[in-house]
Amino acid sequence: RASMQPAAPLPERQGVPPVHGVSNTVVGVLGGGQLGKMLCQAASQMGIKMVILDPLQGCPASSVCHEHVVGSFSDGDAVREFSKRCGVLTVEIEHVDAATLEKLEEQVPYTQLQDKYRQKKHFSKFGILLPDFMEVDTLHSIEEAGERFGYPLMVKSKRLAYDGRGNAVAQKKEDLSSVVASLGGFEHGLYVERWTPFVKELSVIVARSRDGSTVCYPVVETIHKDNICHIVEAPAEVSAKIKKSATDVAEKAIKSLEGAGVFAVELFLTEDDEILLNEVAPRPHNSGHHTIESCYTSQYEQHLRAILGIPLGDPSMKAPAAIMYNILGEDEGEAGFFLAHQLIQRALNIPGASVHWYAKPEMRKQRKMGHITIVGPSKASVKLRLDKLLQRDTYDPK
Ligand code: ATP
Ligand code: MG
Ligand code: MG
Repeated sequence: RASMQPAAPLPERQGVPPVHGVSNTVVGVLGGGQLGKMLCQAASQMGIKMVILDPLQGCPASSVCHEHVVGSFSDGDAVREFSKRCGVLTVEIEHVDAATLEKLEEQVPYTQLQDKYRQKKHFSKFGILLPDFMEVDTLHSIEEAGERFGYPLMVKSKRLAYDGRGNAVAQKKEDLSSVVASLGGFEHGLYVERWTPFVKELSVIVARSRDGSTVCYPVVETIHKDNICHIVEAPAEVSAKIKKSATDVAEKAIKSLEGAGVFAVELFLTEDDEILLNEVAPRPHNSGHHTIESCYTSQYEQHLRAILGIPLGDPSMKAPAAIMYNILGEDEGEAGFFLAHQLIQRALNIPGASVHWYAKPEMRKQRKMGHITIVGPSKASVKLRLDKLLQRDTYDPK
């Protein structure tokens, strides 16, 4: 012992504590749903500490985070207090107290993005194609919009929309007043969009680092049922030219914004191969769940890398094909849990299938309860495996 050399002194930078592992920074997340949970899972692998702000005791992220603070992410005081525990703040849901968040972080323009009408105005200024849209605040103005855009007419809430809750379609002029009433009237802010008879819906996840550089994930196709994302196919089965234009539009949209993190760009592909932007979500997204199993760096790890200012990872696919199936509540309560469990049991017998169960305390119809990602050697094989999972003879995404 006496003959042992003393350890070499550690290199010291004045006042800066040495980094243990990937990062010492504690990450605070507003929201503890499934996206927050999967962020925490990626963080756990890298030994990054996560604290969550969510009002729901037992929320999905609570079982995997370092600490869960029970409180409201839409309450400025709660967000300010919460921020004192964290080195960096991020969101897993855009419906947060954006004004407070922006004062604390000065990063992503959440206020602008959480209002879908303001979003659209912003992107149209940057020459990005969108379905025609118009703000409406009286029955007269919405009738005018109906005359201008024709029917069916898509009517949308500006704020607090998700899974299509906040959208309603008017088939004819006579429907307008009941459609407006179904969205809670004009008081909370409505706008309309021209109906887009898209041939496919596509999505591109774009990650942006603190220095403004971006990387894009492969273009995927999202298939919605009753306005809710249902199936995601990766990569999308479209031509290389369409992939390029979808990626270009997505990158251009994100370059027009500020802030670091991953962003999802939802797109419509039209019959004449035009790409229109639907909306942007400033966070990890349902269309990127598959990246956990199918890409070198998942969207969740990527989001952490981006907000922590460490190098972005490789977004490319390490499997030739993947398909993601959302487990939506089919019934309330125990009956719903039983149906979901039957599906999960079948998934456990399918090669390449990974089950994600969010462990939400309550089962409700149409609620996202979990998802299953199937990876495989080709698109045809993962579709066959999905058919087996869903006990059907032919692939039919609807
Ligand atoms: P999310 O859960 O993605 O946040 P959301 O509630 O914000 O959804 P949107 O993305 O606006 O809703 O619309 C949901 C779905 O409705 C779209 O994915 C698309 O299938 C359909 N949709 C939206 N806008 C139009 C349109 N202008 N024309 C035709 N279909 C549309
Ligand atoms: Mg939305
Ligand atoms: Mg959407």
